[in-house]
Amino acid sequence: MLEEYRKKRDFKKTPEPPAHKKTPGGDLRFVIQKHAARRLHYDFRLEVGGVLKSWAVPKGLPKAVSEKRLAIQTEDHPMEYATFEGVIPKGQYGGGRVEIWDSGLYANTKKGNWLASIEKDVQKGHVAIWLAGEKAKGGYSLVRMGTFRNTEKRMWLLLKMKDPDTKDKKTM
Ligand code: MN
Repeated sequence: MLEEYRKKRDFKKTPEPPAHKKTPGGDLRFVIQKHAARRLHYDFRLEVGGVLKSWAVPKGLPKAVSEKRLAIQTEDHPMEYATFEGVIPKGQYGGGRVEIWDSGLYANTKKGNWLASIEKDVQKGHVAIWLAGEKAKGGYSLVRMGTFRNTEKRMWLLLKMKDPDTKDKKTM
C-alpha cells in the first residue's frame, strides 16, 4: 500500500520518514497536518490496516454540521508520518512546511466495534468516525464523490455529523 508513497520521495533529500515494515495494532490514530505546500492545505490521515489513509483537505475540517469540505484522497502514508513535522525541501514532492494541527485517537462509528478497521468502508466510499482530538472532536463522515479530472485522485466530501448530546432536534 506504500509503493506510491516511496516512489514519490527521495529519502536522501526529504526529512519525511521512510515507510516502515511492521503493522502496529491497538487504538486507531488520526492526525491532521497543516501543509504549507504550493497551496496550503490540511492532510487528514486515518490509521487503517497499518498505514495512514490520507486526504488533502484544502479548507480544513468542517466546523458546522451543514458544512461540506472537499477532500482529495492521496497516497497511503506510513504510520511514522503521524508524528512528522518539518520542512520538505523546495523541489521535492510536497515541498513546504508540515506541522501537526491536531492528532489523537478515532473510533469507527459505523460498526458495533469501535476499533473495527474502516478498510472496507474506505473501499466502498463511505466512512463514519468519531475523532477524539484537541481541536478535532466528534463525529465526521467521508463520502466518495468520484474521480478528479481523469486522474487517480479521488474526490470525497468531509462532513461534520451532529453531536448526539446537542439540544438541536434535527436528525443526525
Ligand atoms: Mn500535503
